[in-house]
Amino acid sequence: MKIEYKDLKAVNITVKEKKEKNKAGRENRKNEEIQAAAEELRHSSAGLEQFAYVTSRALEEPLRIVARYTQLVAQRYKGKLDADADEFIGYIMDGATWMQKLINGLRAYSRVGRQGKPFKPTGCEAVLDRALTNRRARIEESGAVITHGILPTVMVDASQLVQLFEKLIGNAIKYRNGEPPHIHISAEQKGNEWIFSVRDNGIGIASEYYERIFVIFQRLHSRKEYPGNGIGLAICERVVERHGGRIWVESELGKNSTFYFTIPINGDK
Ligand code: ADP
Repeated sequence: MKIEYKDLKAVNITVKEKKEKNKAGRENRKNEEIQAAAEELRHSSAGLEQFAYVTSRALEEPLRIVARYTQLVAQRYKGKLDADADEFIGYIMDGATWMQKLINGLRAYSRVGRQGKPFKPTGCEAVLDRALTNRRARIEESGAVITHGILPTVMVDASQLVQLFEKLIGNAIKYRNGEPPHIHISAEQKGNEWIFSVRDNGIGIASEYYERIFVIFQRLHSRKEYPGNGIGLAICERVVERHGGRIWVESELGKNSTFYFTIPINGDK
């Protein structure tokens, strides 16, 4: 049988299509696995908090040794070995600083439940004012315009609510779109809960990442593009969870994101 060139081309295209299909299938399966693991982690965050606590404690000492001796090597041998050695020492020091930040983040995560304070009636406008004061430098430097609607009084750990607003507003400023950030905070009563929202006009988030960004250490960008350690939203979720609420995001990619969280009315924990 004579095989025509056009037949070969057709076979080639089918093989290519098959390969692409397989690759897409593998990627889908991988995404589904990550999604499932992310879901599982979200549902066991009390256990994760305990794990974060013991892990951060256990890693402290070895990291201290690595950081200390790298510093000593840098002080004693910088400029005395070759240029490569200086460069490598620089990388090790950066790595140690990075790891220190991750461990600090883990510790902060582990404190939400362990060191949380009792809930008291708290005016959210005062809480927001405090969060804005704490972030004043970032707000002024970015030219952010921040507005808010009428905010209620709720039963919360005030310092954790300040932390929550600070983190969401901080992210709204960090993930901006080249334009000055416009951020609006509001609250709406629905059934027996308040739904708070923090809306920005930033880079947005693709819908396939709506769940994953709340998982500890999950980030969508490199540290060069946007600095960070991927712990902020995991802490936000723990704080909201401790108050008996939920947190989620809705977004238009490239245009805006709105982070929502709920606080039950008559929360009496
Ligand atoms: P970090 O900011 O340190 O990376 P977070 O846990 O606060 O960690 O956020 C996780 C990821 O969610 C970020 O890396 C970013 O990709 C995405 N993200 C968070 N907030 C926003 C926002 N307001 N707009 C766009 N993306 C966001």
